[in-house]
Amino acid sequence: MRYISAPWRAEYVRRSTSMTRCVFCQALKGGDDRAAAVLARGRRNFVLLNKFPYTPGHLMIAPNRHLADFTEAGPAERAELAELLRTALRVLRRAYSPQGFNTGMNLGATAGAGVTGHYHLHVVPRWTGDSNFMPLVGATRVFIEDLDATYQKLRPLFDHERRRRGRAGLASRRTSAPSR
Ligand SMILES: [Zn+2]
Repeated sequence: MRYISAPWRAEYVRRSTSMTRCVFCQALKGGDDRAAAVLARGRRNFVLLNKFPYTPGHLMIAPNRHLADFTEAGPAERAELAELLRTALRVLRRAYSPQGFNTGMNLGATAGAGVTGHYHLHVVPRWTGDSNFMPLVGATRVFIEDLDATYQKLRPLFDHERRRRGRAGLASRRTSAPSR
């Protein structure tokens, strides 16, 4: 009896290789949230700062699973993504008082995705005139605050939001931090 070849095995190896290189999977599995700029962890998604921000506070929400296509996400994954988007908008309003937001996904390299294997929702705070002066001074990034300063500003606000949701009985984390 001859066994057929196992082409899915090659796919598995390719996938696991890309997963170990994936910046989102690395940030999620690393133990140092501050170094990885992870702002919040839900049960199915997490929030992290973009290390090459368009504006201060530019963050991303990504699923814990290494998923390329948003249509593969389950209902609970999609619902929590929306909840974390709401939290992110609240936090960014408190921290930066932006005049608007851009939020969306770049799916596929053609659409401008830098990381194609792990979908992520961008949340970009906007101010009137930022797109006018950004190209001029963007190279020096003088208007971009230090990433760690952004992290130190936003992390306590996300923690506060998580406690607030916990008090409201909507705690979404099974392994949430003990109440203080
Ligand atoms: Zn990944």
